[in-house]
Amino acid sequence: MTKIVVIGVDGATLNLMDKWMDHGKLPIFDKIRKNGVYGNLRSTTPYYSAPAWVSIVTGCNPGKHGIYDFFCTDSFSKKIINSRYRKTKAIWNILTLNGKKSIVVNVPGTYPPEKINGIMITGLLTPSPDSDFTYPKIIKKDLIEGKLGKYELEQVAIDDIPKNLTARYAPKKLAEQINEITTSHAKVTMNLMNKYDWDFTMVVFRGTDDIQHLLWDNKSLILSCYQKADYYIGEMMKKHPNAVFIVVSDHGFGKPEKYFYVNNALYNAGYIKTISNPRYNLNTFFITIFDKMSKFIFHVIPLKSIVRSKMGRKFILSTGSSSNIDFNNTKAYYHSVCSRGIRINLGNKYNDGPVEQKDYEGLRNEIINFLKEIKDPESNKPIVKNIYKWEDIYGKNAVNDPLDIIFDLYEEFGAQELLHPPEGLKNLLNTRNKTLSYISKPGFYDWKGDHLPNGIFFMHGDNIKSNLKINTSIIDIVPTILASMEIPIPKNIDGNVIKDVFIKKPEIKNIEDYTDKKSVLTDSELNKIKKLRFLK
Ligand SMILES: [Zn+2]
Repeated sequence: MTKIVVIGVDGATLNLMDKWMDHGKLPIFDKIRKNGVYGNLRSTTPYYSAPAWVSIVTGCNPGKHGIYDFFCTDSFSKKIINSRYRKTKAIWNILTLNGKKSIVVNVPGTYPPEKINGIMITGLLTPSPDSDFTYPKIIKKDLIEGKLGKYELEQVAIDDIPKNLTARYAPKKLAEQINEITTSHAKVTMNLMNKYDWDFTMVVFRGTDDIQHLLWDNKSLILSCYQKADYYIGEMMKKHPNAVFIVVSDHGFGKPEKYFYVNNALYNAGYIKTISNPRYNLNTFFITIFDKMSKFIFHVIPLKSIVRSKMGRKFILSTGSSSNIDFNNTKAYYHSVCSRGIRINLGNKYNDGPVEQKDYEGLRNEIINFLKEIKDPESNKPIVKNIYKWEDIYGKNAVNDPLDIIFDLYEEFGAQELLHPPEGLKNLLNTRNKTLSYISKPGFYDWKGDHLPNGIFFMHGDNIKSNLKINTSIIDIVPTILASMEIPIPKNIDGNVIKDVFIKKPEIKNIEDYTDKKSVLTDSELNKIKKLRFLK
């Protein structure tokens, strides 16, 4: 029976790795490339971690699994998604139904942990160390007592500001912190693999994503984070020489030269109305002051312990960037920084939405044309590369209310959700200017690096071809794993078995679906989600 190990290296890109492998800087990746299969892994639309990792572990498109963003898309509230919103089975559910054992560590979007045949430690979007983030619960006790090694839990948004300032004023220290987290996740995973029986193990190393967002121009520090992953992949391969290893990333990376402030553009065009003039709002004032004082704050104030305290956590998770929006009169809003999607404020969906159903399609077409036409005022180049209606890419049966308009941008642009003047307070006295700039060089809140659609795919082991380049898709991972393990593939999975990776093709079996008739969501959970759309 083939054992499978999947290692996620968040945001890893061949744009950097090819050169590093050629120069011997990533020896394990290079070995896998030569003795196995490798290539690009096409991500989801949008190419962000929440939808992408869920597609990797379900083999389904977002329209079917229902995760489109870090935040629920069925309301204007900033409610963070969790594993209960996922509407299709993950690989570990299918393996459980086939009597196979899984170890799952730090996969984004897995909180709350599911009852599986095996062990789960949840990943990014786990609310806090106080939550029950393991299954079974005893594993959390073992982690706290250090019986499985030291474990660093990744939390939602909490550490963003300390990380941002560390990147500015102590970049080396940030790389060290990131590499410590990778080490902790690798060691705990390896300890679990030694201590418990397993057929499938998956761990995600997220440090590569963090460092590329914050320090894209510092390639030597980025390399150190790839090398940490490279080293531990090598250690795992040494300890488990008979397993098939698959290494993937959820998306690639590049450098946005400028940011498109989507809500500023919608505000200028009159689609967004605000409570107070966004050119003078308090948020802009605080951001500017914070920016100016950030060096002092970094060196003097123990930011990390403040943000991680109960008060700090509550404050960070409660400050919404949409607090100045007049939702009674706002017709359309860019949902969140990573959503690449716009929600139309329909009256029959949201209590205070001003848009009537009869005007929906006309308004949607109008905004699509508006986005197609919008240009960078400096270069006169278009900003939006592709633009879709939700049903065009997710299908008309898409679950969990996808956003109404989805788009992606040309590589040189990142997107920003904040509705505020990107120049800060500089243009405060310019009272003649009624509009907001919608294009800006990366500012305080913008990343230095941002995502591109192509992630990585490496596969190595018994019956896997060597020295072969294959480009494939994120939804093909689950069916390929199931085929390797000779487990029937449910018909509702969208992806295909990557047949070309195998020396001797496995017999591919299909099954209508597995017999547990339970929905992933209970009726009461479904009702709760329905109610959510009326909250703001
Ligand atoms: Zn990222």
